[in-house]
Amino acid sequence: MKFAIIHHGRCNIVSLDYRITKTGLLEEHLPESKSKKKTECIEILLDGDYEHVLPTKEQIRTLKNILSKIIAEYPKIKIGGHRNIKGSKTNCPGNAFPLNHIRIWANSELEKELDKKTYRLIEKQYRP
Ligand SMILES: [Zn+2]
Repeated sequence: MKFAIIHHGRCNIVSLDYRITKTGLLEEHLPESKSKKKTECIEILLDGDYEHVLPTKEQIRTLKNILSKIIAEYPKIKIGGHRNIKGSKTNCPGNAFPLNHIRIWANSELEKELDKKTYRLIEKQYRP
């Protein structure tokens, strides 16, 4: 997996992996996408329109939850909005969506993950 792509609720995407409702509930659509043998990106959609309003606190919490699992599995993954994809003619997930906040958070999350791995490695080497 190379990318985790975030969408707003009005986006028509066929290969959705996760949907996060306004109340922060996570719906997994993985069986479908797995059958298409996706290897490049994981698509996450948040119900709502984020041109002028922020996602709900519950949605952000759920998003971070799922992203930290994704980061643990694919530490090299890049997180972006639909509009960050080269050639896309959309503003999805919207101007008000806190993409930078999510990216900064994801980087610190990744560092924590790498720390854990290093720690385990050191632990293994120096175990009596
Ligand atoms: Zn989109």
